[in-house]
Amino acid sequence: MARIVFFNIPAHGHTNPTLAVVRALTAQGHEVIYYSFEPFRAAIEAAGARFISCDRADAGDADGGQVARDLVASIALIVRVTLSMDEAVTRELEALKPDVIVADSVAFWGKLFALKLGVPLVSSCTTFAFNRHSAKIMKSSAGDLLGMLWKLPRAGRLLKPLRDKGYPVKGALDILQNDPALPTVVYTSTAFQPAADTFPDNFHFVGPCLRPSGEPWPKGERPLVYASVGTVLKEGTAFFRACVEALSDTCDLVLSLGEGADPASLGALPAGVRAFARVDQLAVLRSADAFITHCGMNSASEALYYGVPLITRPLTPEETGVANRAIQLGAALPLPSDDPQAIRDAATALLASPAHRAAARDLSHSLRSAGGPEAAARVILRAGNC
Ligand code: UDP
Repeated sequence: MARIVFFNIPAHGHTNPTLAVVRALTAQGHEVIYYSFEPFRAAIEAAGARFISCDRADAGDADGGQVARDLVASIALIVRVTLSMDEAVTRELEALKPDVIVADSVAFWGKLFALKLGVPLVSSCTTFAFNRHSAKIMKSSAGDLLGMLWKLPRAGRLLKPLRDKGYPVKGALDILQNDPALPTVVYTSTAFQPAADTFPDNFHFVGPCLRPSGEPWPKGERPLVYASVGTVLKEGTAFFRACVEALSDTCDLVLSLGEGADPASLGALPAGVRAFARVDQLAVLRSADAFITHCGMNSASEALYYGVPLITRPLTPEETGVANRAIQLGAALPLPSDDPQAIRDAATALLASPAHRAAARDLSHSLRSAGGPEAAARVILRAGNC
């Protein structure tokens, strides 16, 4: 039986699809060890893996926003996190002798440990796969690219301490860029992925890998609209109040306000409207007629998997890419503003549109037939020669 080690960052969107893959691997009797962060322990253990905490990692006083925007800050963080775990994780991995390491595409320390120890690596990509063709829909500009190239030498100078500890990295691109032949699991279908035909065979578009969900959400006579902004953004109540004002006369509504939010902050809610800090999103999507979403890759994919058309309200460039793609394929309408009238107009148009429902159903078919967790498990086992 194979021994597989996962590395991930502390984010639901990056963790959720891997849990189904862990289940598929452990169901076949393989051993999975999963390096992640305490809030994810329970879900990882429930999927059958042994959890090892990365909470000992030292991220300093990294500012998430700056790291996302600035190449030098992101390399500094990767170096710091990797070195802070270097001794312990190197010792553990030398004892574990994994057949293969699966690292989230932005859990760069997982990739670095694999490089240092010469263990086969698989990249787990929870966004669209990225190349210059798919970048067009992600709206990455030449300016972004130039800004990044400009900073590469400065970022590269931060790598000496890694080299001193035996990591074979010459420049920042060795960390950020994947080896072109690296086996890569992408949790979408070739129909949803922009420019899928421009990616080589080592990119495996396996579709969403969904965790088990509860029973479909109970549905009444009226259309059911679900609204969420995901797990990362902290949204005030104004947007959700606007959804209630716009739709509660004509639709049933489920609102996921975000972890830590207090549903009571919305005040008394009209009949047919339910608000939660977090819901069983898959159970709701199994019954929903439309989804007002920030277009996190998982949320959009999960909805389309169940054939639910989207009203898109992206905030980051990555979410805008996902929204643009769903709109381009006819399965979504954009939300031009948070004004209640705009929400009402978009929902009325979407709910009345057989074309959008049909496009979402077509995507559902492609996402359901892409192979799922078993296909991802096969890629991983093949990479480890297991
Ligand atoms: N999610 C959930 N319940 C909620 C809100 C979100 O289970 O109330 C899950 C959702 O199903 C998805 C993940 O959290 O798997 C969110 O990931 P996504 O990529 O959509 O967005 P992010 O939270 O990373 O912005």
